[in-house]
Amino acid sequence: MAKLIEGKIVAKKILENLSDEILFLEKKPCLAVIIAGDDAASKIYVNSKKKKAEELGIKSVVIELPQNCTQQEILEKIYTLNNDDSVNGILVQLPLPPQINAKEVVEKIHPLKDVDGLHPYNLGQIAAGNKPHAYPCTPKGIIRLLEYYDISIAGKHAVIIGRSNLVGRPLSLMLLNENATVTVCHSKTKNLSQITQQADILVSAAGQRGLVKADMVKDGAVVIDVGINRQEDGKLCGDVDFWGAEPRASYITPVPGGVGPMTICSLMQNTFDLYKIQNKI
Ligand code: NAD
Repeated sequence: MAKLIEGKIVAKKILENLSDEILFLEKKPCLAVIIAGDDAASKIYVNSKKKKAEELGIKSVVIELPQNCTQQEILEKIYTLNNDDSVNGILVQLPLPPQINAKEVVEKIHPLKDVDGLHPYNLGQIAAGNKPHAYPCTPKGIIRLLEYYDISIAGKHAVIIGRSNLVGRPLSLMLLNENATVTVCHSKTKNLSQITQQADILVSAAGQRGLVKADMVKDGAVVIDVGINRQEDGKLCGDVDFWGAEPRASYITPVPGGVGPMTICSLMQNTFDLYKIQNKI
């Protein structure tokens, strides 16, 4: 039987410490969020980020733009926020409306205010084996979970399913920097199960319900499920067949309550860390 990796509890502890540190600051950190368009899920995510920030004493500014906004309008907002000393972190909620070039938008955020850690400068620093100003939130949350549960990474074979800039790609580099042997799988990978069966640490970030079946998990593996999917009854689930994999794994994350709470926790931590860098604390 696997030990449950309880991201919800770990995130709560980290955020309690963070809130204590923020309490003593005279000038509070500030997170600015740009949301463009009518995507219902994005609105829910932005509201929960705003709420969490305010609970911790982080100021939050939400800038809403209409579905038919232009590239120029978004870039102007970013320019203003880049030059506003009272703003420490800038987040652009993805996805953006189809007429917007999201890559250019992310690249225009100042790397020192790139609270999502998605700017090429920050991703490039990770690729070069250096410390970025901010790590991407979900990979950072996963590494913190492994650290919290004292799960060693060095020398382990880590297999990651998914190569997005948001999760799989930066996580592969971060695990490599921690001396894991890393294999990255994606939608064109052949014989996925043969590869996952070799994983000491298996991370699934594909967004495919039922993708990781019990027989794809090696005995004793650490299983990290990043996926967020819906079951037929509307409940949330991950990519992994949890009840099939759980008896084989040594550790496993639930969905919900595993990686998700760590992502928002990393966002808050990144806001604070960027504040400290900008204020030379
Ligand atoms: P994405 O769609 O950008 O990337 C998915 C990746 O999975 C791609 O690289 C694709 O090649 C790979 N993939 C898809 N199907 C596959 C298959 N059958 N076999 C092998 N590889 C396959 O998605 P993303 O933004 O990286 O997010 C992935 C999942 O994680 C989604 O469900 C998303 O909702 C979730 N997510 C969760 C959190 C969290 O905090 N828990 C954060 C970010 C994303």
